[in-house]
Amino acid sequence: MVLKRVKTSSKESLSQTAGPAKAAKSRRAKKPATLAGDAVAELFRRFELANPEPRTELEHSNPFTLLIAVVLSAQATDAGVNKATRRLFERADTPEKMLALGEDAVREEIKTIGLYRNKAKNVIALSQQLVEKHGGVVPQDRAALEALPGVGRKTANVVLNVAFGQPAIAVDTHIFRVSNRTGLAPGKTPYDVEKALLAAVPPHYLMNAHHWLILHGRYVCKARKPECWRCAIADLCLYQQKSLSPTAAQE
Ligand code: SF4
Repeated sequence: MVLKRVKTSSKESLSQTAGPAKAAKSRRAKKPATLAGDAVAELFRRFELANPEPRTELEHSNPFTLLIAVVLSAQATDAGVNKATRRLFERADTPEKMLALGEDAVREEIKTIGLYRNKAKNVIALSQQLVEKHGGVVPQDRAALEALPGVGRKTANVVLNVAFGQPAIAVDTHIFRVSNRTGLAPGKTPYDVEKALLAAVPPHYLMNAHHWLILHGRYVCKARKPECWRCAIADLCLYQQKSLSPTAAQE
């Protein structure tokens, strides 16, 4: 019996053998490492131990002032927002008072915050909508919140979580970074990360997860130089480029 050898060009053989294998390998390689369930539980156990009752750093006195503070916080620091809102909220802590104050005065009060002109417009427009459609009360459901001017999914999640005690997670830049670096909830978009977090975080920790992750990202797992050498979850974290000494972190 004569075995007939089938000649294939190098191109064909790549597409028929190495091609699919390579593609599958590359698909496998792209899948980010994810923390195991017991590591996730341990991570939050430590966060809770260190800070049992985490709070937002945005100053507010009611759901309305929280909503305004979160709207103003886009591309601004909490400290910067607090500085501007202290006086603003003394003058207007309800939608009705905000409307009475007017756009010019709001703009003047928040002029130290980035994008203040547009934000002043939104503050007035959303106050108007709250008065006209919701009797001056901040609604407790996502769709109604997201329909307000200047309010997106992230803002709605903060309000639902902080003002109304719902286990929502608002994925900001800090949470996005920490979730990806640690392997807690890797994702390419904030919404992917939000879904991954909701699936990964044990129910007991869901209510506070948002605050713990923001605070961790803001003060320890910083964007440019994460302070891994003093990080309470360093042994659990899957990040490959940890800074293991203060000196290394400063380089
Ligand atoms: S070990 Fe480093 S990268 Fe990992 S969570 Fe801590 S600070 Fe962030």
